[in-house]
Formats: sequence, structure tokens, C-alpha cells
Amino acid sequence: MPFSQKIRGASFRDEYIANSDDFMVADTNDAFLIPPKSPMLGDCLTVVLDLDETLIYGRENALYVRPHIQELLEFLAAHCETVVWTRAVHHYADAVIHQIDAAKAVDHLICRHPTWCTHTNVKDLHLLGRDLDSIIIFENTPDCIRGFEGNGVLVEDYTGGELEDTTLLSVLHLLREVVDTRRRYPSLSISECLARAQLAQKQHVPTDEGDSIQCYCLGRMEETTAPLHWRGPQQHCARLSTLLQS
Ligand SMILES: [Mg+2]
Repeated sequence: MPFSQKIRGASFRDEYIANSDDFMVADTNDAFLIPPKSPMLGDCLTVVLDLDETLIYGRENALYVRPHIQELLEFLAAHCETVVWTRAVHHYADAVIHQIDAAKAVDHLICRHPTWCTHTNVKDLHLLGRDLDSIIIFENTPDCIRGFEGNGVLVEDYTGGELEDTTLLSVLHLLREVVDTRRRYPSLSISECLARAQLAQKQHVPTDEGDSIQCYCLGRMEETTAPLHWRGPQQHCARLSTLLQS
């Protein structure tokens, strides 16, 4: 039976509509939006993922999931700290993550909140309390990465439906390249790692404010010669090693 990208129908809306005006940031502290990185994660890359129109399409009462999300989340669970950062309200975002994250990859969920959700769309990576050179963010909205163009990778909008979409496979291959490059050249910045990656191309893109920014845009799988089956590094972050040994 072919895989259906529409994993929930109209009933999905019932899971979050009752409290759709809530505001919440996941377990936060005073200075930052998320707790300090767990020692179990070592110096893993912190991967920030936008939700709507990057990973899923959740309008019109249904929930469409971008193809290949499970491969991506399994990789993230093994090799990265993962943050989902969205302007959506908590009940909606939490219900979506519950549906899609079978790999338990998502470490932190940041939702709509006055501490960061202001008159701009910018996701200020300083608010994560991590070394900026350990953070990469994937977004479909250029304005969200303004000021952090060296850490951001733009992806094309996902608008649901049942068409094939290899965007998340491209994200997966790009992350493999970055993780591998950081391991071999630990002094490189994230921007320098992205500059070496086959699937990231720096381009000028228009913003919602009417100007443009220059940032990395995700290439297509067909444009890479990278092997489909990654050979390394095979070391996992301590979290997964612990799980494998238990
Ligand atoms: Mg989005």
C-alpha cells in the first residue's frame, strides 16, 4: 500500500482547538528559551526545524507530513540535538509532534510566546543558549533567519498533497555532510561547513519586508553526487549509545 502523506483527517483539529489561544515555551529558564544542552549530547550539532510548511502542512483541519520525515528524525535522534521552533500555539504544535516523532528525536519544542514572538518573524538563535557555531536552522520563511544567514538553510514551502517531495531527503544528506565536516574540521564555523556542502547554495532571496537577504538555500537530491547510503561517522551521540546498550 502506498504511503499516505495525509496521516490525520478532520479529527486532528479536535486535539488542539480547545486551547488554541495558549502561549507556552517548552521547559524554559530565565535567560534562554530552552534548558542547557544535556551532557549526554556532548558537542552534537543543534538542529532547529521550523514546523509549518517545512515539516508539515496542517491547515484545513488535516495534517499532511512531508515525505521522508522518519528517515530525517531517525538520523537526528542518533546524531543531533533537535529543536522544533514554531510560531504556532503549543497545543497544536505538541499534537503534531506527538503524531510525527516516532523516533523521539525532538528534544525541545519552542512555540508562540511573547519572549521571542514580537513584531518581527526573526528566530533569534542567541536565545537558545548554545554556541552559534553548533546551530543550524531549516526554515521556509526567509524573514525568520534574518541576521543568522550563516546558520540558516531555506527550504521550499510544503503545501501538503500527495506529490513526491524529496526536500527532507536533501536536508538529511546536507546534515550528514555537515556532521561529517564538523568531525573532520572542528574549527570550521557552521557557515564554512555549509559553504563546503553540495546541497547548500548561497543565493539572494526576497523577504516579506520587500528587500532581500543572502542565505543558503537547499539544493535538490538530483544535484548531488553524495552516496545514498552514508558511511560515517558511525559514532552516535552518547544518548543513542546509551539506548543501544540498554
Ligand atoms: Mg514555516
